[in-house]
Amino acid sequence: MKQVKTTRQYGIFINFRKIYANLLSLDTSLLFQKILKIQYSQTCVMFSLALILLTTSATGVMAGGGFQQIAPGLYFSSGVHQDFSKSNKGQIANTGFIVGSERVAIIDTGSSYQQGLRIREHVRAVTDLPIDYVIVTHMHPDHALGTSAFSKDSPQVIGHQNLADALARRESTYLNNMKRLLGDSAKDTQLVIPSKSVTTTEGMSLNLGDRWLYLTAYPTAHTNNDLSVFDTKTGTLWLSDLLFVERIPVIDGSLLGWLKVMDGLMASGCINTQHNRQCQPIVQVVPGHGPVVTAWQSALAKQHHYLEEIANQIRRIISKGGTISQAVKSVGLDEQGNWLLFNEYHGRNVTAAFAELEWE
Ligand SMILES: [Zn+2]
Repeated sequence: MKQVKTTRQYGIFINFRKIYANLLSLDTSLLFQKILKIQYSQTCVMFSLALILLTTSATGVMAGGGFQQIAPGLYFSSGVHQDFSKSNKGQIANTGFIVGSERVAIIDTGSSYQQGLRIREHVRAVTDLPIDYVIVTHMHPDHALGTSAFSKDSPQVIGHQNLADALARRESTYLNNMKRLLGDSAKDTQLVIPSKSVTTTEGMSLNLGDRWLYLTAYPTAHTNNDLSVFDTKTGTLWLSDLLFVERIPVIDGSLLGWLKVMDGLMASGCINTQHNRQCQPIVQVVPGHGPVVTAWQSALAKQHHYLEEIANQIRRIISKGGTISQAVKSVGLDEQGNWLLFNEYHGRNVTAAFAELEWE
C-alpha cells in the first residue's frame, strides 16, 4: 500500500533530522539552547525530548566517550575505516576491555603509547580493579603498539606463541612507520614483547573473577600470530582481524589457512573452552575492524567469499601459465563495491595470494 505522508508528518520528519544533525555536531548544552530556540509544535517538542532521552540512555553505556558497553562488563571502542594518519592518530582498529569481579583484561592497545593511555583512562573511568592482563590479538601496529601505556599496572602481556618473534623482527619498521605516519601521536611509543604465550595446541583460560576468558591461538591465517578471546560469560568472541566487517580484509599470513579457520568456526558455531568442557555457542563477534556482529556467520561468509574468489581466480591464471601482474589486473574486481579501502589493499592481497598459491 502506498504511504501518504501528511504535511504535519513531514514537518516532524524534517525537525527530527535537524535535531539529529545537531546531536551529532553539538555538545548537550548547545543542543538544548538550539532546541529551545526552535519554535516547534507540541508534537515536535515531545519528539525532541524522546530523542534526547533515547540518546542519553544510549550514551549511558559509554565509558567516558569512545567506549561502548556491548555486553555486561565488556567495553568496545571502534576504529575508523581509514589508513593511519595524523588526524585519526592511528585509532583505526577496534580495542576493548573486559571487567570481572577481581580484575580487568585489555584487548588490544592501539597504535601508540598515547592511544594506550587513552584506553587506560577509559578503564579507570569504569573501575579501579587491577589491570592484570593485556591481550594482544596479533602483531599489526594498529593493535599492538599501545601496550607500554599499561606498564605501571605490571600486567601479564599475552599473545600467540609466534607473536614475540613476529614483533621483534618488525620492531624498527613498525616504530619508524608510525613516527612517519602519526607524527606527534606516535611520541614515546615503544614495543612491548609479550611475557606469556598461548600455544596453538593448548589455548589458555584466564579468570577475571566470576568471569572466564578463553584464548585460542590459530595456525597461520590473517597473520602467523592470530589470537581470539572468548568471553564465556556473554558468549562474545573477539576475533579481531580474523574478521573484517565493511573494511577489506588484508592477507598477511595465509589465504588458505584463513579460509580453513573460517570454515572451522562456521561449521562448529561454538568455542571449546577448557573451563566448562563443552562447546559454548557464539552469541556475537567483535571484528578487528567494523561493528560488532550478531549475524556473525554471514559476516564471515562474506569475507570467505572474497578470499575464495581470489583463490579460485588466481588458480585458473596459474594453471594457464599466467603472471602475477595479469592476476593483479583482473582478479576479484567484482568485489570492489563490497569493501571499503578496496583500492588500497586489494592489489596487495592478490599479490600475496599469488605468491602462496604458486607453490600449492
Ligand atoms: Zn591485522
